Amino acid sequence: MIHSTVTYSKSPVERGYTDTLLEVDLSSKKIFIKPISEEMRRLYVGGRGYCLKLVYDGTNAATRYDSPENVLALAGGPFCGETAFAGTGKFILGTISPLTNTFCDSNVGGHFFPLVKLSGFDAISITGKSEKDLVVVIDGDKGGISIIDAPKQEYTLFSSEELVDQWKDAGSPGNVAFINAGTGAKNTFLGCVNSVYYDVRRKRCRAKQAGRGGTGSVMREKGLWGIVVKCNSPKSNANRPADRDRLRAAGKNLRKVIKHVDPKAMSLGTQGTTCLIDMMNSFHLLPVNNYQYGIDERAQDVSGCIFEEKIFEQRHPDGCFMGCSLACTKGCEQHLLKTGPFAGETVSVDGPEYESAAAVTNLGIFDIDFMLEYTWYCDEYALDTISTGVVMSFLFEAYEQGLLTSEDTGGLELTWGNAEAAIALLHRMAAGQCGFAREAGRGVRHLKNWIADRAAARLARTRSEVYEELSLFGMECKGLEFSMYITKESLAQQGGYGFALKGPQHDEAWLIAIDQLNKELPTFERKARALQWFPLVRTWFNIVGLCKLPWIDVRHPEAKNTKYPARNLPTIEYYLELVNATLGTQKTLDDLLLESERCYLLHKLINLRQGFGTREHDSIPLRAMGPVFINEYNSRKHYYETCLKEEVGVALDGKSDQKRLQTLQDYRRSQYEKLTDTVYEEKGYDRNGIPLDETLQRLDLDKPEYLDIVRMVRTRYEKPSDETAVNL
Ligand code: SF4
Repeated sequence: MIHSTVTYSKSPVERGYTDTLLEVDLSSKKIFIKPISEEMRRLYVGGRGYCLKLVYDGTNAATRYDSPENVLALAGGPFCGETAFAGTGKFILGTISPLTNTFCDSNVGGHFFPLVKLSGFDAISITGKSEKDLVVVIDGDKGGISIIDAPKQEYTLFSSEELVDQWKDAGSPGNVAFINAGTGAKNTFLGCVNSVYYDVRRKRCRAKQAGRGGTGSVMREKGLWGIVVKCNSPKSNANRPADRDRLRAAGKNLRKVIKHVDPKAMSLGTQGTTCLIDMMNSFHLLPVNNYQYGIDERAQDVSGCIFEEKIFEQRHPDGCFMGCSLACTKGCEQHLLKTGPFAGETVSVDGPEYESAAAVTNLGIFDIDFMLEYTWYCDEYALDTISTGVVMSFLFEAYEQGLLTSEDTGGLELTWGNAEAAIALLHRMAAGQCGFAREAGRGVRHLKNWIADRAAARLARTRSEVYEELSLFGMECKGLEFSMYITKESLAQQGGYGFALKGPQHDEAWLIAIDQLNKELPTFERKARALQWFPLVRTWFNIVGLCKLPWIDVRHPEAKNTKYPARNLPTIEYYLELVNATLGTQKTLDDLLLESERCYLLHKLINLRQGFGTREHDSIPLRAMGPVFINEYNSRKHYYETCLKEEVGVALDGKSDQKRLQTLQDYRRSQYEKLTDTVYEEKGYDRNGIPLDETLQRLDLDKPEYLDIVRMVRTRYEKPSDETAVNL
């Protein structure tokens, strides 16, 4: 059934922009096509910047993930869809998250947003709620938008070729793409959004995921099954840059570096991100048993080399959009499902990515077949492989510690390495099964409270005692689960996770390799400066909707001759060429960083408005800073003893192992606090993490409404007894 439909004349793309917004209100089923103002474009650029502004404007301090006014915003950026440069298929989804109760976003590749832009839109804003599941269809060929009933089948990846065939009309399947979230997104807070496109070389659909923060759960809460786009206009030169030749030259230079460097360095082109498994394991960074350990000899059974040789089909280049020669989107063509509703079916699996594989090692499971099963079902159900994995590993540890029993878990024996229990829990969570599985689907922050209530009564301990114990190893910050790196020995990455505005996700600051592998941040000051600079550059990639991997994971040979090799400035030069050749401008890196900082601060302001965003929300669990229990300490006893002697400067004589562990923990906590003070100063915040007025002024954010937010929050700290929530 068609609920509403409008026709429109397509805004042409000019110098990377269409300057047009598609707005859909699911409550009234109304569709609006609106111009995007020059001011919005100048101040917020695109991608995450547009999502932040749309969410800020459409919501208020009382908005929750399920409020009808919550905005699900989607935006590409000025380079989205450019086929002559690598990494241009990305877009951002942003919303008020069910996990963090404030703005959270996730980026994802594929063909979806390039086709949306080709159809005439720079951004989409979804508001309202529908009782019935609906689909928005963008027909860029005919110039029409419709809201129709969702397809009957709940399972989507399994039937995606069928859906594409149905929607393509007379056009090519390669010119249809859709986004969608499945049953897991509907029944939990951990829902991701699948970005599905037809790969003409492999002759099958591929799916990439916007994993973090529960954007898929918001989508399903709104009654939106998905959005479909089709557009058969030519993609080449569709972004209409100001200087095509200059842009092509920059794209060619970047491709040359990728071709020369990647095969000898990370091998993303043949191993995908599974190359990180070996690298992380050899530096004690691969999460094992809920981040207790960073290394395990069984990691050799799940090495990136095995994926390259035995699992990934290497016949075709695997860029998630045209023009990406780094081509890390690897996949397994045939996997026989052993469990769940599709047991016995043979399916194709996209990935696994490093994060999904490490979510499995974090359960003490080192089995490629299980990694494929876990990844496929998470994608089919639309569950974030990271948050789902961390929820499970947290529950496994709580069970192993005796804080949960099989009575609590519905009979599941959550012991390290128990793959059968892990996959059963996954199926139950996705189905929203009442009781334990439903609680698990609410995330680690919720579970800490739920387990504390039950365990305190059973163990005759106080609730706060149990809660504090759970908080030592419950790997969440701001409500979002940690992504898959052990941070115990990298103070820079501890800050990278703790200060990240949306929670501990490495897309804001991935300093682990620079700090711990390459030892490029040897001093405290270098770490603090990196925690200012890298988040801004990474935010820039998100506001323009570009993939970061060709910059951060492929170091230009000339970078070693620069003052800060880790910044990879010779490659940044190619990006500056892309900017100026597309927009016809003369921008410098400083200009880009300023744009980025403005968007970064707008995110901070939303966090503050929603009642978060201050120092206490930047604290991280002890497990992220160092060993929590004596078994962790003893697994690297010699290393920690050396740290205590040489770094902390304490004598070990006469101290028990437990006392040594405690001294180390106190030191690590103090280092994190010291880092917090220094980074806040670098960022222009006060010691509570609140931006100074002059910081807002410098960024053109000194409007009364923004200044009011920071002043209201400041008042809370001036009167510590007043616990009134910020209510603007
Ligand atoms: S590097 Fe990988 S994720 Fe990034 S655009 Fe290329 S194929 Fe997609």
